Amino acid sequence: SEIPIGSPVRTQAIINRYFMKAKKSLGQNFLVDLDALHGIVKAAAIKPDDQVIEIGPGIGSLTEQLLDAGAKVFAYEVDENLLKVLQNELPKKINGYPLDQRFKLKIEDILKADFKQDLKDFFDLSKPVKVVANLPYYITTPIIFFLNNSELEFASLTLMMQKEVADRLSAHSGTKEYGPLTIAVQTEMAVKSFMTVTSSSFIPRPKVDSSVVVLTPLPAESKIDIADSKHFNWVVKMCFAQRRKTLNNNLKALIPNNEDRTHLIKSLGVDSRVRPEQLTLKQFVQIAASVPVKN
Ligand code: SAM
Repeated sequence: SEIPIGSPVRTQAIINRYFMKAKKSLGQNFLVDLDALHGIVKAAAIKPDDQVIEIGPGIGSLTEQLLDAGAKVFAYEVDENLLKVLQNELPKKINGYPLDQRFKLKIEDILKADFKQDLKDFFDLSKPVKVVANLPYYITTPIIFFLNNSELEFASLTLMMQKEVADRLSAHSGTKEYGPLTIAVQTEMAVKSFMTVTSSSFIPRPKVDSSVVVLTPLPAESKIDIADSKHFNWVVKMCFAQRRKTLNNNLKALIPNNEDRTHLIKSLGVDSRVRPEQLTLKQFVQIAASVPVKN
């Protein structure tokens, strides 16, 4: 049998065979590090017959490992040229099954996906669905928000992304990485960083290092109750508008009245010169509740 797609020689051979030029504009950096690929599968805790959505299969490096581990994979890929590559290069048989019983590809922009409609004939939607991806980095945050807002609730999201974004997702309050993205995600999901992968593990090499992060929905009892998440995320953004200024200063645009502002900051139980990155998620919820909803 052939050596894995995710090994450097095989990837290079595939690129040569199809006269492929990796498209920078689509974030095409193929992972050629079998330890990293196995690490992603392990982080996602893939078990036989797990139902997995993969975003951006590329030439199939990660897809092949997911299939090997027993997953059924539904993949979204925006580059139609990869259809033929995936059909030819993925193994014809997976653990005894024909490929088309274990793998389905939709050529589409993930941000336009209609999961329930797309998956209903391939997955049992009464059972958990996981997302696993080596993301196209130019749209990391839109994809995270899209998945987070989807009507299908995922069991977990195992995502490889640029390290800088991963660090913001997993940040603690009081650090410089802590900000609107941290807060938007951590109010809904638990974030766990798994491993760092250096840029030399990709063909072509990206400019930055990468991290694998696992996001899991918070159990109902530890979810922070947010009535209007659009309003909440807007208020948080405004609080961080000028990160180096105090919360009081940033709040002027939201609560122009000095007395009202002083009163709110006092009720948070923090120093009047507190900076936005020092606040907890719950304190932001309290602030959002004191700011009128903008129409
Ligand atoms: N999974 C492969 C791997 O690990 O080597 C490729 C990962 S590569 C970083 C990102 C992939 O996402 C590329 O194949 C790219 O064509 C695809 N992609 C880019 N934008 C996309 C979008 N909007 N929707 C779906 N796939 C997209």
